[in-house]
Amino acid sequence: MVEKALDLRNIFKSMDIEKFLNTFDTPEKCHSVLAVAKWTNGFICRKCGGVRYGKGKSEYSRRCTSCKTEESATAHTIFHHCRIELPLAFELAYRVCGSPEMPASELAQILDSRHMTCLKFKKKILECITTHGDFARNSKD
Ligand SMILES: [Zn+2]
Repeated sequence: MVEKALDLRNIFKSMDIEKFLNTFDTPEKCHSVLAVAKWTNGFICRKCGGVRYGKGKSEYSRRCTSCKTEESATAHTIFHHCRIELPLAFELAYRVCGSPEMPASELAQILDSRHMTCLKFKKKILECITTHGDFARNSKD
């Protein structure tokens, strides 16, 4: 099975911060772009390899027609089970990509979030980019 490329970094890069914040200001918009980026080359079920799908329980998830396994837009990305709101997580990812050297304490100040949250998420983002080249990962969680 071929891992689908997630091209979110380029989407992020193409926007300045103002445009970025206006574009991804709700969790729905974040989910929507994740779904587009993730399944840009079509849907492939991770469990059975099926390519046919129906709508899942939530608006942006997809359900395999053959084995009924559902995958959400955030699954297998760094935004899965994220402890902060999706728009905030997006902004953090945007800022980390733009200036990886920015200390977590500064990020926490800009985003008005906890230092530890920013520190952990920043680490996760950088690790994922180093390993997979983008915000997607292959692990099962
Ligand atoms: Zn399946």
